[in-house]
Amino acid sequence: MHILLLGSGGREHALAWKIAASPLVTKLWCAPGNAGIAREAECVALDVADHAAVIAFCETNKVELVVVGPETPLAAGIVDDLTAAGIKAFGPGKEAAQLEGSKGFTKDLCSEFNIPTGAYRRFDNAADALAYVRAQGAPIVVKADGLAAGKGVVVAMTLLEAEAAIAMMFEGAFGAAGAEVVIEEFLTGREISFFALCDGETAIPLASAQDHKRVFDHDQGPNTGGMGAYSPTPFVTPEVHDQIMSRIILPTVAGMKSRGMPFRGVLYAGVMLTEQGPKLFEYNVRFGDPECQVLMMRMMSDVVPAFMAACDGELRHFNLRWYDEPALTVVMAAKGYPGDYKKGTRIDGLDDAGKIDGVEIFHAGTVAKDGAIFANGGRVLNVCAMGKTVREAQARAYQAIDRINWPDGFCRRDIAWQAIEVEKTSQ
Ligand code: AMP
Repeated sequence: MHILLLGSGGREHALAWKIAASPLVTKLWCAPGNAGIAREAECVALDVADHAAVIAFCETNKVELVVVGPETPLAAGIVDDLTAAGIKAFGPGKEAAQLEGSKGFTKDLCSEFNIPTGAYRRFDNAADALAYVRAQGAPIVVKADGLAAGKGVVVAMTLLEAEAAIAMMFEGAFGAAGAEVVIEEFLTGREISFFALCDGETAIPLASAQDHKRVFDHDQGPNTGGMGAYSPTPFVTPEVHDQIMSRIILPTVAGMKSRGMPFRGVLYAGVMLTEQGPKLFEYNVRFGDPECQVLMMRMMSDVVPAFMAACDGELRHFNLRWYDEPALTVVMAAKGYPGDYKKGTRIDGLDDAGKIDGVEIFHAGTVAKDGAIFANGGRVLNVCAMGKTVREAQARAYQAIDRINWPDGFCRRDIAWQAIEVEKTSQ
């Protein structure tokens, strides 16, 4: 099979690594890719926003499956355009991608199909939104309706912060994405990520994971795209798993089908485990980054037939197998991230680090120049490891990190601390 993967981050490196391992694949391209992905796939300088160019590439190269990593091309309808051109593509169409592209859309779906989530209201003007938060009080959550590169959510602990967030969004900080604002009840509890592979009708749960959004150890500092993740998480017990499937995932898939916009692809639920049970606080319509990295490490089954079955509506006949061992990933970021940071700093020692047992290093933002690797983004590397326990996986990942010589990078030193605490108390 000829496969084209779209994207350039650590998520796509993990997908490329897993796809390239499939005996079904004879050729894999990635557009645009990065220096690490280039080890698994031929990177091509295609403009992913130019759907006609992507289609022409697929036709010329007889691509039989396109796998879309990030949300932007999904929201722009690339899957619809590829499908219309007779090319199979993994991911939701534009209408179904609204589950991520419009927070108001998702909240209305939850309310129509009784999916547990925080109370909310949608607003198209600042005056009404301000009156609402003043009546509700803080803490409260203010969200830009549209895609805002992960920055459109303000968890306001005070009324002042909520008012400032509303003003900022309606003043155009996120452009059209903030023309509508959703104000949501503040949920308390443990936050987990839940993934399901969907074919429009059937949903197969993937392994559970937990990521670490704050930039510094002990969950301090500003939110980021994710500084690390591990899988499985002990907090998704079999009971919680069943509740999430039956109360959140399955009603969503059924609801989307009944609305005439069947969801195919990876549905990623951000779930808060509250005292009243699991509640949805957001959907994404693709793999999480860095959760994808640990899921791909733990997936024993070939991923390519799973993607094909999701495209073809054949998941009801499907079964995915996983390694029991936990996997963990630590993100190495450029100093300054998630604020301003330098690009182009040199990274050494990667080959040596990759030799440690159970370790795999995925590149999130790198370029190769004259045989050396240079940072090319905020989140730059994902140092992943498997182990018999989360603690062993963590020790291996940090051992690898200590072999990486990158003075301009940093990482958290406590990834998976919650799971390690549970391991310690259960020993
Ligand atoms: P998002 O960009 O939607 O992933 O949201 C960023 C972060 O905001 C999430 O990871 C949560 O920690 C937090 N968050 C979002 N919605 C809520 C909510 N209703 N209550 C509490 N925290 C929330």
